[in-house]
Amino acid sequence: MFTLPELPYGYEALEPVIYAETMHLHHDKHHTGYVNSVNDALSGIGEFENMSIEDLMGNLDKVPENMRTKVRNNGGGHYNHSLFWNLMSPSKTTLSGTLLEAITSTFQSSGALQKQMNDAGVARFGSGWVWLCVRDGKLVVESTPNQDNPLMDGGKPIIGIDVWEHAYYLKYKNVRADYLVTWWEIINWDYAQELYSKST
Ligand code: MN
Repeated sequence: MFTLPELPYGYEALEPVIYAETMHLHHDKHHTGYVNSVNDALSGIGEFENMSIEDLMGNLDKVPENMRTKVRNNGGGHYNHSLFWNLMSPSKTTLSGTLLEAITSTFQSSGALQKQMNDAGVARFGSGWVWLCVRDGKLVVESTPNQDNPLMDGGKPIIGIDVWEHAYYLKYKNVRADYLVTWWEIINWDYAQELYSKST
């Protein structure tokens, strides 16, 4: 059984980048819905009931076929949002350490990485996510549809940005590009570094 994690800060803490109303809807309604639905899908399937969400993401092929799409969409929603809350912070953090080195050697600069991710996020048609992940030991930018994520095919997420309209529409309306550019003001580089350290 999965449970809804509390936000690591107040609902209003990310203003003005993300409105409190967006955080309430996004966390209390959307994320709650994913948790309830994945629990509902897995109830009674013994071997999955105590599995971590990370392990579940890598073992979707073992979920009974009649439940697999529901588990993929809602388990993915639970994992992605749990990550996303921690990747934002009301306190300013700084990119440093091994993640700075890897980003600089792969993309030339943090600014170049951000531009590549923003472009990938704008290019994602419909709903989905844009990712920085480690794949075969290298940093790569990817985007996924719906609530899919890199764990589903062997990648390790370092940064994930939600580009569903529910993540930004109240403030940014239809202009996803503005949301993405502004999002970097609240990134939690410390958490991204933590994920990067665990991935290598
Ligand atoms: Mn979302």
